[in-house]
Amino acid sequence: MRRKLAAGNWKMNGTAASLAELAVLGAQLDDEGPDVVVCPPAPLLYRAVHAAEGTRIDIGAQDCHMQSKGAFTGDISAEMIADTGARYVIAGHSERRDAHEERNSDIRAKVSMAWACDLTAIICIGEELSDHQQNNTLDIIAGQLAGSLPDAATAHNTVIAYEPIWAIGTGKVPTLEQITQVHDFIREKLINRLGQDVGDAIPLLYGGSVKPDNAETIFRAENVDGALVGGASLKAADFAPIIAALARS
Ligand code: PEP
Repeated sequence: MRRKLAAGNWKMNGTAASLAELAVLGAQLDDEGPDVVVCPPAPLLYRAVHAAEGTRIDIGAQDCHMQSKGAFTGDISAEMIADTGARYVIAGHSERRDAHEERNSDIRAKVSMAWACDLTAIICIGEELSDHQQNNTLDIIAGQLAGSLPDAATAHNTVIAYEPIWAIGTGKVPTLEQITQVHDFIREKLINRLGQDVGDAIPLLYGGSVKPDNAETIFRAENVDGALVGGASLKAADFAPIIAALARS
């Protein structure tokens, strides 16, 4: 049985007051439910780790640098993230691929750095609307997966999040058939590259406008093991029902 995971990405939202949501969410989680990760902005990481103590919520960062240290003003290393007590880091979110011009090779280097610091990397891949419209989704996904994922991936150090860019923050969601097709394709690629055991065990998340009212449908896809959730992860009242739908799936 693959582990199920619900990951929340707060993006550039939230201040210390927002951390109260972690206690509210944590109190609603069953001991047996899916793994839960919340990725707040970097200045909140340390406090978030403490705010989540005594709950089943793990804390993750939204990015790390590809170098271990040095003259990179404003950047944050994987070691610094691990030092806060966080256990996960998102790598290659489409907003970073776009606004920070991150290439697959950069993301691959970031993932290796995350692994070296015992962080689990949530590697994001996903096509633009034009690729979707021209039926290029699987080619784009294959290229991003091949280029962003280092060879030493395991089910412990890696989570893959499929996030169609046109579905992020838009309220548009692919059909269940489209989600199923892409997730089955990613699973096949992982098995071909990493072998049956590892490829079959790496959790695959869907991301893009997951909300309490569509989560149950999305989680019906066999190779969807959870979700990467943006907007609906900011409030426990929205994130908790998504986690509950995953638990039931
Ligand atoms: C995201 O930022 O990864 C995301 C999926 O956002 P949203 O859920 O708001 O579409």
